Amino acid sequence: MEKPKFCTSIACMDGRIQIPIMTWLKKNHNVDYVDTITEPGMDKLFRNPNKIEEIKSKALISVNAHGSKIIIVSGHHDCAGNPVTKQEHIIQIREAVSIIESWNLSVKVIGGWINEKWELEIL
Ligand SMILES: [Zn+2]
Repeated sequence: MEKPKFCTSIACMDGRIQIPIMTWLKKNHNVDYVDTITEPGMDKLFRNPNKIEEIKSKALISVNAHGSKIIIVSGHHDCAGNPVTKQEHIIQIREAVSIIESWNLSVKVIGGWINEKWELEIL
């Protein structure tokens, strides 16, 4: 039997975005399961070194124990935990992608924006 394929979503806790993220990953990367790390306004937390360490330790569980090969970090429209402009979200998401890439986990890192139609756009 083949091992199930895992990937990792680092995202806001907002209930409106989880299914669009999972659906996109299953459709485009053929994964079986999406490990999900959430906090309110996740994209802004990559400006806080203590939070970055906490997020990294959680992501490492997904990568090391489940063999995740893809990490997607996202932000979304109408975020109560991080009520900034779309432009600012995009800047923060791109910064988060660079930070995660700097962890050198040999995973593909993807940035995503969930728009006002609750569709995932890849950055
Ligand atoms: Zn949010």
